[in-house]
Amino acid sequence: MATTAEPQSANTQEGANQPTAATGWGTDAPDQPLRPMNFERRALRPDDVAIKITFAGICHSDLHTCRNDWGGSRYPVIPGHEIVGTVTAVGSEVTRHAVGDTVAVGCMVDSCMECDQCLAGWEVFCRKGCVQTYNSADYHDGTISKGGYTDHIVVRDHFVLKVPAGMDASRTAPLLCAGITTYSPLRQYNVGEGTKVAVIGLGGLGHMGVKLAAAMGAHVTMITTTPSKGEDARKLGAHDVIISTDAEAMKAAATRFDFILNTVPVSHEIDPYLQLLGRSGRMVIVGALTPMPGFTGFNLIWWNRAVGGSAIGGIPETQEMLDFCATRGIYPDCEMIRMDEVNEAYERLLRNDVRYRFVIDGATIGGPE
Ligand code: NAP
Ligand code: ZN
Repeated sequence: MATTAEPQSANTQEGANQPTAATGWGTDAPDQPLRPMNFERRALRPDDVAIKITFAGICHSDLHTCRNDWGGSRYPVIPGHEIVGTVTAVGSEVTRHAVGDTVAVGCMVDSCMECDQCLAGWEVFCRKGCVQTYNSADYHDGTISKGGYTDHIVVRDHFVLKVPAGMDASRTAPLLCAGITTYSPLRQYNVGEGTKVAVIGLGGLGHMGVKLAAAMGAHVTMITTTPSKGEDARKLGAHDVIISTDAEAMKAAATRFDFILNTVPVSHEIDPYLQLLGRSGRMVIVGALTPMPGFTGFNLIWWNRAVGGSAIGGIPETQEMLDFCATRGIYPDCEMIRMDEVNEAYERLLRNDVRYRFVIDGATIGGPE
């Protein structure tokens, strides 16, 4: 039986640790809009943290999952993996977080914490399979995880990040996916002073890629399909802009870049972009998960180029990214919306009419009567 929406501390309220009634917005089928849904959050386990959600970013992955673009969606899907909130209760063994703390949750809520990947801080590649924040089966009770478009969430302590003191919580949520997904490959491949970086696609991920690569000291070029975004790209920190439909401009940029971050959300030809890489240049694909058309071997062999991918990042690196952004005052560009505007926001994402990340105001998510 559910009790209240906001759990009391398991340590202080004898017998208060029960499942709690929760409200969220989700979808019942790929072609259905999101609607309010009631469900239960589990009673706190000893290593759990309960969080009242104050802000939740909208990632394009949420939309892909609602519409089952990748297969494997388990309905009802209640998405959201860019979460900021306030701790309302902690399990008896939690020491890293306390009631009242401002915290954040990204794309994962559990992993085995024993395998080589978890021990190395790469929980995303947990050999047992990490539990993702939504659409993933819980290890203990098999329930399907429900994400951040909800009034509160219960998460294993290791997967709860600290929002550094002084950070503007209203603009922090998108860092938990768009931020770490772009920070991680930039770090892995040592982007820094003197690196010539191109970012393809100026959306939620792309705009963070521009800001972060510029903050790391790289020379950053935005490659966009949308001419009207050129001005924005420069304001975000890009030194140069190429409109990808401009064949002359693309030709002129051949072999110019050391590193390309590709955030395009759908399958697409990569040959035209590969030709922009110089000697031993690397393209990292973080956007499209779907089958990609092939590439021409020549475009890899000539100039010693490489193509790779990158999945979000581990928990230690996510905390490092939050601290990096806090120290330098780096924030996503957020458009705050009410929860009941989510379906319109999805339509705008599909129309490429977003500048650059929607964030849901948690106060509008509602709760049980
Ligand atoms: P988004 O906000 O919709 O941005 C995507 C951008 O890509 C658009 O703004 C647009 O930029 C460009 N674009 C869109 N359609 C295109 C097309 N047909 N051809 C070329 N460019 C196109 O999406 P997002 O939230 O940044 O997410 C991007 C992708 O990353 C999604 O597929 C998402 O699922 C994935 N993702 C992956 C990870 C990971 O771990 N690797 C993590 C999070 C998200 P321009 O107008 O500038 O061209
Ligand atoms: Zn995401």
